[in-house]
Amino acid sequence: SPVISDIKAAIRTIPDYPKPGIMFRDITTLLGDTRAFRRTVDELVNPYAGSKVDKIAGIEARGFIVGGAMAHQLSAGFVPIRKKGKLPHQVVSVAYALEYGSDEIEIHADALVAGERVVLVDDLIATGGTATAAVELLRKLGADVVACCFIVDLPELGGAERLRGLGVEVRSLVA
Ligand code: 5GP
Repeated sequence: SPVISDIKAAIRTIPDYPKPGIMFRDITTLLGDTRAFRRTVDELVNPYAGSKVDKIAGIEARGFIVGGAMAHQLSAGFVPIRKKGKLPHQVVSVAYALEYGSDEIEIHADALVAGERVVLVDDLIATGGTATAAVELLRKLGADVVACCFIVDLPELGGAERLRGLGVEVRSLVA
């Protein structure tokens, strides 16, 4: 569709960042484009118009930007999922594997009430390691994870399939 083409065209690809051989999808150009940013948020929230969403959970850091806008549009609350050590109150943590070593993400233990309907968002899904850990975190708190959504999916890395394997709906705007 022309809307999706517009969104896609606003994303810049930076070769060899952060290391040689990586084609980094840079969404800062999209965020700075008035029309493309609005359309991105509209496309992300569209599937949930008229359905009850209690919370948008955004993954640090670019998931905060789109997640905040989505929460506003859906009249939902916003919950940050952050890298280890950044949240000030009591947390629940999940560790996940990286190419070399591992990392941990956290959520405030009181960020949501069991049974709440939550939509998870990040800018991009690659291997799915981050989003899979985030779904695990949300489910530890008893959340009903309605869907995971992304601006960009890199399907050859299998992340979306991995997430679907957890029984969660996955949506992305650009592949
Ligand atoms: P995954 O855990 O799915 O392998 O990697 C996804 C995470 O890394 C997301 O939080 C995403 O923001 C970040 N990421 C990985 N590759 C890219 C990229 O090319 N562009 C952007 N904007 N983020 C990326």
